[in-house]
This record gives sequence, structure tokens and C-alpha cells, in this order.
Amino acid sequence: MISNEDNNKITRLLDNEPVGMTVQVVRVMGDGAFRQRLLEMGFVRGARVTVLKNAPLQDPVEYMILGAHISLRHSEAAQVEVTDQDAEFCDMEDAFNGIVETTVAGVDPMADNVLRVALVGNPNCGKTSLFNYVTGAKEKVGNYGGVTVDSKEGWFNIGGRKVQLVDLPGTYSLTEYSPEEMYVRTYIRDNHPDAILNIVDAGNLERNLYLTTQVMDMNIPMVIALNMWDELEKSGDHLDIEMMSRLLGARMVPMTAFNGHGVKEVLQATIDAIDESEQETRHHNVNYGALIEDSIKELSGMCPQLDRYTVLKIIENDQHALLLLNNQSNADQVKSTAAELRQRIERDYNDDIVSIITDLKYGFVRGALAEALTPNPDRATGETKPGYSLDRLLTNRWLALPILLVLMWLMFEATFTLGAYPQEWIESGIGWIGEWIGKAMPDGILRDLIVDGIIGGVGGVLVFLPQILILFFFISLLEDSGYMARAAFIVDRIMHRVGLHGKSFIPYLIGFGCGVPAIMATRTLENRRDRIVTILTIPFMSCSARLPAYLLLVAAFFTAKQGLILMSIYLIGILVAALTAIVLSKTVLKHDKTQFVMELPPYRKPTARNATIHMWSKGKQYLQKMATIILAASIIVWALGYFPRHEGQTPQEQIENSYMGMMGKAIEPVVEPLGFNWQMGVSVLTGAAAKEIVVSTMGVLYTGEADADEESASLKEKLQTATKPNGEPVFNPIVAYSFMLFILLYFPCIAALVAIRREAGTKWMIFEIIYTTAVAWLVSFIFYHIAILL
Ligand code: GDP
Ligand code: MG
Repeated sequence: MISNEDNNKITRLLDNEPVGMTVQVVRVMGDGAFRQRLLEMGFVRGARVTVLKNAPLQDPVEYMILGAHISLRHSEAAQVEVTDQDAEFCDMEDAFNGIVETTVAGVDPMADNVLRVALVGNPNCGKTSLFNYVTGAKEKVGNYGGVTVDSKEGWFNIGGRKVQLVDLPGTYSLTEYSPEEMYVRTYIRDNHPDAILNIVDAGNLERNLYLTTQVMDMNIPMVIALNMWDELEKSGDHLDIEMMSRLLGARMVPMTAFNGHGVKEVLQATIDAIDESEQETRHHNVNYGALIEDSIKELSGMCPQLDRYTVLKIIENDQHALLLLNNQSNADQVKSTAAELRQRIERDYNDDIVSIITDLKYGFVRGALAEALTPNPDRATGETKPGYSLDRLLTNRWLALPILLVLMWLMFEATFTLGAYPQEWIESGIGWIGEWIGKAMPDGILRDLIVDGIIGGVGGVLVFLPQILILFFFISLLEDSGYMARAAFIVDRIMHRVGLHGKSFIPYLIGFGCGVPAIMATRTLENRRDRIVTILTIPFMSCSARLPAYLLLVAAFFTAKQGLILMSIYLIGILVAALTAIVLSKTVLKHDKTQFVMELPPYRKPTARNATIHMWSKGKQYLQKMATIILAASIIVWALGYFPRHEGQTPQEQIENSYMGMMGKAIEPVVEPLGFNWQMGVSVLTGAAAKEIVVSTMGVLYTGEADADEESASLKEKLQTATKPNGEPVFNPIVAYSFMLFILLYFPCIAALVAIRREAGTKWMIFEIIYTTAVAWLVSFIFYHIAILL
């Protein structure tokens, strides 16, 4: 055990503390983003930390600090120096100096004719819930940090005025270390909203109000919404809102976002704040004590156009803030003055500037809470949030991974079996429509286009809507309950093995739905190399658009263990992703190990409403895709198979001699070693537009040859009975599986490629196209040749 003297205290490393132990933080070692993040999460001098448990694979470890559950890897906890609980901290904690006032000129909020209100808050504090409630939007709410990675705008009316509400990503601070922080900070600086609505989790005020202290310094009218008021009331804690508002110098209004309680009052308070700011306004800021306040004043005098927040950041030597000085004539002078001031402050407090400011901000918050918040006296200190007994099971050393696997298996099995019923209804509905139109219309190109091209193509994809809805319903439940973050906690050790962060698990999981939002979700990863590795491997997580092809092939060629066969495809995708990630993070994308600071949100009962909203919005997206890309592609595919027309050919010959047939024949030599014929080659090609089209192409290729009458067999039967020119069946289970493997692994659809290009760059997009296709070909080739030998 390492121990040394700091301020006459025996200190140890947090990493060495046993489970159940509560200690007090002395300091965080290391530097840069990691240290800053820990400080912001509350690892400041004197803060109490309890060691809750090890992850099932022994790393990371869950700690409780400021009532929130945070997970850290052992290597990170080794950066935190702690000492016995109840040690005396004589210096700055609880240094509550109250507030200072800054007077700024009034702004006319209607200058651009729009009232703009920005939602700012920690991840998972209910911003999106409020946004949806107020604007009637159906954005995704999730009990997981970093679900919102860009901003959403909506409108509402109040008192006859139209207000724009902007839902920003959740952040713990505005220091610009992570993409979200950067986004929020830049948004506020560039768009200068008329007011900031700061949402805080009332059950976790100490940590949430830290961000508030930064927002306060921006001198924009601000109202604090005390969200999750229902949970605070249930907990038995008492908050004197009026006193708290006075101490912080900011309006606070209680609210429960998901049922709308207090929302009207919150909005009204926000509008009032804007109206008041029309005249000269006094803003309230944290009082950092005489020395720092004088320093801020001195520097503000030199650059009057900068807000207090930026001035303080310049004193802190923040690189982003310093950039703002660049086009200023006295930049060098400002920098040297800032350096002098910084040295003086550091000497005086005998600490580094970042810790000093963080400590003072926390001191301010703590001081105010000590006055205004009365914890429920019946609750033992260190008691955990509700749902914790469930947590013991879900993160149990031996049961956690099996439970995770079973949950995933259940999800896929349910998707398969439950979805089959509505699927049948849709299928027969489409068959009926096609038949009816076929009879009602005269023979000709138009009839063929509508019946075979549009109804056949789009209909073949539409039948998978129920399954996709069910899959998203499950993902939403997992996210909303708080399990998703536990999944990241459980698998971090494994993800770490492949060079990634447990957080990558979430984009991967979203990737099972659709690669595009999954690639976007990687923005929550702080390390760029991590992000690129994750982005490049996400397409191996089999997206729901590929599901129709599997469902068709599994149903047609496997009679038993359908769920398991489907799952095996998914598992192979995961395996390939893992191998790819290992290779990438050991070679071209090599980097220092990534950190695992993550908040574990409380368990919440998932609401049917949320899950339905989520399902509905995914369903809508799917239908939109169907009405656009899939419709267009179906028509193109149909036309390629329909032209050029030749008189007197059988339908079969017609397709074979069509443009499509020519293309397929051209690539046949490439796909033949995989057991495929030219029809399958064509299907794979058309899948570039969207993976669903693989199935609709097969629909056109295999059912296009028959007129749609009541005798026409479904695509499934067509595939089962399809024969090669020599009379052998085209498909058998081996070919079907080889084909599924290829569909699983080959290049992602255009939408995903666009997303990859945007997030990682053109170079990586091209790499991805070549790499995935090569892998797909190899894996199918190896499988096919081994399987036919056996
Ligand atoms: P965001 O990350 O800030 O956008 O937060 P979300 O709106 O996604 O909400 C996070 C979680 O908190 C979700 O599970 C919500 O259902 C839940 N939630 C939001 N508002 C409230 C509230 O007022 N009370 C309770 N009990 N839960 C809430
Ligand atoms: Mg959100």
C-alpha cells in the first residue's frame, strides 16, 4: 500500500480500498481531460466516496460519490488519493462566499424576432423528456448518458408568443473536453440564446449544480428547473426552494418532466427572465473570494467583450478560451497578465488552478445545499438508490454475463416468433392487393410496374415492419430501465481487451437496429481513435435492415432451432467486429488506453409510453425509407430486370437476358466460389442502396417470372423450389447460410457510408467499403468450402 503525507494526513489510493469502505478524497493525480472529468464528477477535496462493488469481471469498479454511481477502472482509481473518512479538511471546502452581481446592458430579446431557449443540463436529467412534453416532439428519451448527441429544435406557444426550444446534448461541464461539451459551449457562444433553461436532477443536486455554476457565469438569463421532483419527494428529502434560489441567485422551479407537472410554471419563469433582461440586468455569479474576484475584474477590464465565464477560463489557461483572444490587439498582454494572476492564485491557495476553481464551485454548491436541503433523517448515509437489490443480481459476479446473453437471446427470439403473426397478416394483405390490382388493370408495362415492381418490391420489405418494431421496443426497454449502462459496466473488461471502452457497447447495440444512429452515437466516446475503431466495426453488428434477408432464408431453409441460427449470425458479426477492433487498435489506430469514467444512472421503471414513442419513431423512419430509397430502388431493380424487352421469351429468359441478368452474369464468377448464383449476386449489389432491397430484389428475380394470380407462391416457396439449369436446387441450408454470412459482413448501405464519411472521413469510408467486402467474401468462402466437405 502506498502512503504519503499530504497536509499531515495519511493518504492511500482509492484503488486499494475494499468494497464497502467510505473514504474522503484528498486529490486527483494525473492531468488533462481525465483529471478534469473526475473533478467535475465530484472528486474534489473532502468529497466522500464509497466503494460499492467490482464489476463481474473485477474491473471496473463502481463508486458512489455525491449520491451518484460512477464507475472507474482500477487504473483510474489509482489516480485518486484518499484518506480516512472524517479527516479534518481545514482549507477551502464549504467556502461559501455567496454570490456577486454583474451588471450588463440589456438585450432586446426580440431583436431577431424569435425567442430562443436552450436546454442545458447533465446527461440523463430529463431534457429530452421536457422537450418532448413541451413541443410534442417524439425524440428519443433514454436512461443513459449521451443519447442526445446533437441538438433538436422545437416550438411552443406561451402567452401568444412563439418560442423556439433547443434540446442540447447532456454535459457535466462546459470545459470543452468532450464533443458534447464543445457542442454546447459553441452553441451558446455562437447562437446566444435569449435564455438558458438549466435542467437539474433534483435528487442529485450537488453534481448537477456544478454545471449551473458555469452557466451562471455566461450572463445569459437563466432559470433552473428542478426536475425529477417526484423522486425527490418520494425520497423524503426536503429542499427549501426559496432559500436555495436566493443563495444561488437564480430562479428555481420544481418540475416532473415526464408527466408535465410544473412544466408550465418553468416555461413562464423562463419567459419572465427574458422579459426582465430587456432592461439593464444584474446577473448573479459565484463569488470566488476576493483574490479571484479581483483577478477577474482586472482581466475583464482588458477584454470587456468577453463574458465572465471566458475570462475565468483564460485565467485557468484554458486553450479554447485563449483562442478567442487571437484577433485581439492586446492578446499577448492579456495572456501575460492572466499568467501572473494565475500564479498568484496558485501560490495563495497552494494548489493548481483547475482544482482551486473546481473546489470553489463545489464549495459554493455545497454551502448552499447545507443551508437549504434537509436530507430525510430516516435514511442511513451511504444508502443506495432504489433498485439496488435488483442490481446485485444483474451485476452479480457469476450471473451478470449469462443474464446479459439470455436477455439478448430473448430479444431476438421474441423478435422472430412474435413478429411472425402480424407478418403473415401483412403478407396476405399485400398478396390480396397485388392480385386485385393485377385483375383490375389491363396488361402492359404499367401493370407490371405496379404489381411486380412496386407492390412486389416494397411489399416484400414491408412485411418485416413488425419485427423491426419489436426489436426497437426491446432496446428501448433496456435503455430506459438503466440496464444499458450496466451492460457497458459489465462488458468493459471485454471491450477493453479489444482496445475499446465499455461505452462502445451502446453504439454497437444501437447498431443492431440501424448503423446510422449507431455511428452518430459514437460521439459519446471521448477518444477519437476509439471512435473510429467503433465506427468501422459497427457495420458488423447486423442491422435490422439485414434482418428481412435472414428471416426469409432461415424460415425457408431451416426448420429447427431458427432462433439459434439467427443468433449465430449475429454472434459471428460480433466476433468479426472484435477481431477487427483488436487488429485496428494494435496497428493503425494504436493509442494510449482509454478511460472509463462513466455514470451509472439509477434504475427506473421503463414506461410503455417511452417504448411506444421510440418504436413509433423507428417505425416511421422505416416507412419513410420505404417510401423513398426502397421504392426508388425497387423500381430501378424491376426496370433492370424488365428491359430490354424481347418478343416471345418466357419470363425466365426475359430476366436472364435483361440488364440485370447481364450484370449478374458479369459478377457470377466472383460469387460462384461462395455457392451463389447470379441472382444472388445481383441482390447483393442492389443492397448497396439499402439492405432491405436484397430481399425485394430476390422478390423481383424469383417471383417476377410468374404472373401474380391466386396460385402464385410466396417468395419463400419460390426459393425453396428454385433450381439451377441442371435441375439441382439453387439453395440448400449451406448456401443459405453462406449467403447470410455475406449479407452480414459486406459493405454497409449508402446511408451508413455517408455517416461514416461524416464522422471519420472519406479515407476511412473507402477503407470500410473494401475491407468489409473482402472480409465478407473470405468468410463466406471459407464457410462454404468447409461446410460442403463435412
Ligand atoms: P436527457 O438525457 O437529459 O435528455 O434525459 P431524458 O429525457 O432522456 O430522461 C432520462 C431518464 O429520466 C428517462 O428514463 C426518463 O424517463 C426519466 N425522467 C425524465 N424526467 C423525469 C421525471 O421528472 N421524473 C422521473 N422519475 N423520471 C424522469
Ligand atoms: Mg436527451
